[in-house]
Amino acid sequence: MKTNLKKVECDPKCGFSIKSHDEKEIIDIAIKHAKKFHDMAITEKDVREMMKDA
Ligand SMILES: [Zn+2]
Repeated sequence: MKTNLKKVECDPKCGFSIKSHDEKEIIDIAIKHAKKFHDMAITEKDVREMMKDA
């Protein structure tokens, strides 16, 4: 589903951010990022709470 441009930013110390029109893509990439770089298991709900309009 296409939406307005959204973004998710990781911790400023990490500096990772992602922007997309595709929420699914953001959720997918953010979950993988958290797992790979922070050894954190986050959920779709967590990512949605972090999501802002870009
Ligand atoms: Zn990060």
